[in-house]
Amino acid sequence: MAFFKTYSYSQINTYKSCPEQYKLTYIDGLRKSDQSIEAFMGNRVHEVLEWVFKERANKFTTFDKLTAKYDDLWLNAWHDKIFIADPRVNTDHIYTIGLRCLGNFCTNYGPIFDAPVYANELKLEFEIEDYKFRGILDRLDKTENGKWIITDYKTSKRAKGIRAAKSDIQLGLYYVAVQQNFPEAKQILTGWNFLRHNKEIHLQPEEESIQKIKNQVVRRIKKIEKNISDGHSFFPKESILCHWCYYWDECSAKKISNPARSAR
Ligand code: SF4
Repeated sequence: MAFFKTYSYSQINTYKSCPEQYKLTYIDGLRKSDQSIEAFMGNRVHEVLEWVFKERANKFTTFDKLTAKYDDLWLNAWHDKIFIADPRVNTDHIYTIGLRCLGNFCTNYGPIFDAPVYANELKLEFEIEDYKFRGILDRLDKTENGKWIITDYKTSKRAKGIRAAKSDIQLGLYYVAVQQNFPEAKQILTGWNFLRHNKEIHLQPEEESIQKIKNQVVRRIKKIEKNISDGHSFFPKESILCHWCYYWDECSAKKISNPARSAR
């Protein structure tokens, strides 16, 4: 078993939510095409938002154009491994939530979409102590008055507040990524756009909070690497998240396949 040369927020987060899922994904290298309907919708919304800022140089982008693009991406990406874990929802329901996210975004940024976007889906590499990281930022803006603003789009059900943002590992890592890749950036804000709730929050983190996040991440990586070198097992951590996990056939805690129904 080899140590990872490069870490990502998803790796760190997966280990925290379930060490066995971490092992199956990142050590055994198991990859499945199964996907939750919520993740499928989230990906399509992200793609539309990336597209709309590329389009803006030429035209006015109305909500109708946004929805046409969403439909197009939805139909083209549809596959037979999309599942619905929550019995209270169906495909139309989730599709409509995606539309609501786009509607909120269009109201705030459209129809000209002239926000000072520097890049979308920006891949960055950075380092913390001896560890290398990579991250993909949904959006990075650079304003005329010298502010760099990181935005992570969320289509999830729950919105969080400024307190959660201060200690959020993902936002902290993105901050470090911009700090290291753009040394000219003197003022960096990081935050979320909860598209479903039309709630956007950004903050300028204090160096002390960033240091705490760095320490937390390094501690977690050391634990993972120690687990590997000592040959300890990666135990299953069952939780509500199991409903959205597609490793039930491989998981030592599960006796049946994931009962989620196929989406249509
Ligand atoms: S089913 Fe649950 S316990 Fe098993 S690997 Fe997935 S998240 Fe972990």
